[in-house]
Amino acid sequence: MKILLNENEEIVETVKKGLKKSGGYCPCRREKTEDTKCMCKEFRQQVADPNFEGYCHCMLYYKTLKD
Ligand code: SF4
Repeated sequence: MKILLNENEEIVETVKKGLKKSGGYCPCRREKTEDTKCMCKEFRQQVADPNFEGYCHCMLYYKTLKD
C-alpha cells in the first residue's frame, strides 16, 4: 500500500492552496473540526480499509494497494 499525490500537478496546487487558506482543514468541506483536518478522518478510514483504492475526497492523495 502506498499513498501518492495526484499525478495532476494543477489539482495538487489547487488543493494545496485551499489547504493553506483554510489553515490545514479540508478545502472541500465547510466544517472545521478534527475530522476535517488534512488528512481528514474519511481518508484515514479509507487508508485503513484494506479494500479501498482511490483518491481522497479532494483528490489530493491517491491510495494504491500496490507496493
Ligand atoms: S479529502 Fe484529501 S485533501 Fe481533503 S482533507 Fe481529506 S485527505 Fe486532505
